[in-house]
Amino acid sequence: MTLPIHHPDDRLLFGYASGQERAGKSLLVATHLAYCPDCRRRVASLEGLCGNWFEELPCADHDELDVLLDRMDGLLTGAPIPTEAAAPKQAAAGATGGGLVPEPLRGWLPEAIDTPTDDGRWREIAKGVWLSGWERTLSGTTIRLLRMASGAPVPAHRHTADELLLVLRGAFGDEYGSYSVGDVAHYVAATDHHAHGASEEDCICLFLLDGDLIFLDEDGNPL
Ligand SMILES: [Zn+2]
Repeated sequence: MTLPIHHPDDRLLFGYASGQERAGKSLLVATHLAYCPDCRRRVASLEGLCGNWFEELPCADHDELDVLLDRMDGLLTGAPIPTEAAAPKQAAAGATGGGLVPEPLRGWLPEAIDTPTDDGRWREIAKGVWLSGWERTLSGTTIRLLRMASGAPVPAHRHTADELLLVLRGAFGDEYGSYSVGDVAHYVAATDHHAHGASEEDCICLFLLDGDLIFLDEDGNPL
């Protein structure tokens, strides 16, 4: 299996390492870590170097976080690479062989991700594009599965807060790149983007949404 090339940004990794990130995004980051040795090392470095800082952090004030991230970039340059044993225990499972969804996500999802059967159905939102009837909410983040057939475009849309995708099977593409198993796509609020399935088998992603999803007409106006 190839290693991921699209990673959670530093803010997400920092939030995860410090335990301050919201639960839904932490679940996505922990799952990415199972696929990604580079991010496991980075998180372990953050935890190892900055544990005492984390305890002193008041809360995730954005300006303070930017300053801290800058300082940490300096510290991490030339920092020793932690061993695999130092990786967070969630990621240590690393159970990505055989196409299985890794823990901690696996225990959380419907048993078979191609038939997520909380209510037994995929809901087709456009030709060849489905959202799972299965849905969970974790600290305000809505979590579903998104499935795209080869070449099928997700309808143009915009969102009022972060949207995150983590590929669990197959691949998809958009104007920003190509995403395969383990890759993370992070779209901030008010981003328009156009994803489409890009693998022979259907692409299945973990799909996280903090705000509302607004579908757009051909002229880019809200429907
Ligand atoms: Zn990574």
